[in-house]
Amino acid sequence: MDKVESRTAATILIDRHTRIAAIAIGFMALPVGLMVLALLHQGVGNPPASLMVGAAAVSMIVLFALLRGSFVLLRRNLYLFADERIAAADRARLDTLTGALSRAVFLETLKLEVAGSSRAPIAYLQADMDHLKALNDGDGHAAGDAALLHLVRTIRMVVPDAIVGRLGGDEFGVLLPGCEDKQEALQIGTAVLTAFNRPIGIAGRELRLSATIGVALAPEDSTYPDELIALADLALYEAKRTGRGRVVAFDKEMQIEARHKRFVKRELRAAILLDELDLHYQPIFGADARTLVGHEALVRWQHKVRGTVPPSEFIHVAEESDLINRLGEWVLRRACLDLPALGTPSMSINVSAVQLRRPEFAQRFGAILAETGVSGQKITVEITETVPLQSNAVEDLNLKALRAMGVRVAIDDFGAGHASLQYLKKFSFDIIKIDRSYINSLAESPVDHVLVKAICEIGRHSNVDIVAEGVETEEQLRMLKAAGCSRFQGYLLGRPMPLRRQLAMTEAA
Ligand code: C2E
Ligand code: CA
Ligand code: CA
Repeated sequence: MDKVESRTAATILIDRHTRIAAIAIGFMALPVGLMVLALLHQGVGNPPASLMVGAAAVSMIVLFALLRGSFVLLRRNLYLFADERIAAADRARLDTLTGALSRAVFLETLKLEVAGSSRAPIAYLQADMDHLKALNDGDGHAAGDAALLHLVRTIRMVVPDAIVGRLGGDEFGVLLPGCEDKQEALQIGTAVLTAFNRPIGIAGRELRLSATIGVALAPEDSTYPDELIALADLALYEAKRTGRGRVVAFDKEMQIEARHKRFVKRELRAAILLDELDLHYQPIFGADARTLVGHEALVRWQHKVRGTVPPSEFIHVAEESDLINRLGEWVLRRACLDLPALGTPSMSINVSAVQLRRPEFAQRFGAILAETGVSGQKITVEITETVPLQSNAVEDLNLKALRAMGVRVAIDDFGAGHASLQYLKKFSFDIIKIDRSYINSLAESPVDHVLVKAICEIGRHSNVDIVAEGVETEEQLRMLKAAGCSRFQGYLLGRPMPLRRQLAMTEAA
């Protein structure tokens, strides 16, 4: 029911009251008229008939005036009442902040549109604003609100006939009636994101906002409203996983992937309980590429049927739930228990960004060190540059608490993500591990060579160790040494191996 319709309903309501009032007036006027006629007819008393008629007429006029007055009042009150009801209905229909349809109304509309999609196809876009939390935390909620409003305005500007609804905090649903082609939906989504990404003044700063969009079509992908949303959500998730700020349309592969993920989650949970996980250790060497300076612990999953499952297949699945915390704690405990036997000078543990977001992370880390009797000075945590490091954010506090225990912090895969030199300047790291892709292309790419040299230079000046990982050839090693790397890790010098084989290697050496 839209605004016009609800107004019509209110008018009908008032008209009905008007009719009731008119009938009431008629009924009240009837006995008075009859009384007057009776008096005239019987000629009771002495007053002349003309006086009687005059008195009756005056009393009828007064009566009419009174009734008319109360009727006007009644009518006005009814209008006020109806207007309030319309305003309240609008408030419930629209999201107060952005003016988009409220969740309930949007879902109802989506249901109707999907039901009719065999005749009139429709595209459904699910848009998620990126980094809203960081904006709220950094610039205040007013800035976050302004950004959300800007997103809805941008969608309306780029696609005026779109139906936009707010589904939750930073999530919006967009219906494109008549759009039956994925390519077209992707183009529209891209146009929205491009417009949204233009600089805009918010909270006294010029910001570049971004959002991520997942697309699904009815009837092509589904004719069930819930499923259509779930499929667009899968596409949205895929878009976020592959770097945000993009539009991705659903395809069947994603459903297979989602099924695979559910399987991995279930099996991995059991694997942690049944002790089916294992750690392999890879040696790290000093500047001469001979002196052992530490080991990196790399998790392996020995699946009963599928054999050894590499971490690239399950870490990202674990990161979507509490599993990563359990896995992380298992890894730390196992590495600490193996540490005396391995006799390594330093044990490097990979810690995912999701783990660092947990407020009690550092405290649990400390408890495992205490339980296994390992000093924090023997441990290095490797974090990737995807960890957002605002001062005093949970991640920052966790890292500070670890450093207070003597744990060293390494930036892993440096140069692979979006970290700027600013990132290095602002936060204290003890070690930088240059991403393997730079090592790979060292011989062919003069630019990469210069970059590696520059990173080593920064390391020398700021007392940070620079690790070259993924060293596979003698030539790479020679160039990396010349560039000034202080540590080396890679298949050329030692592969990741289980504890027993690692020990056998050390004994043989
Ligand atoms: P990463 O931290 O960058 O680990 C180094 C990866 O490079 C390891 O792969 C290692 O086996 C491989 N590698 C080492 N030397 C060479 C080389 O010379 N050439 C090539 N091509 N590869 C080399 P792996 O073990 O498959 O681990 C992959 C990623 O999984 C790791 O990347 C890390 O991000 C993640 N990971 C591994 N174990 C854990 C863990 O316990 N916790 C978390 N959160 N992540 C882990
Ligand atoms: Ca690592
Ligand atoms: Ca790495």
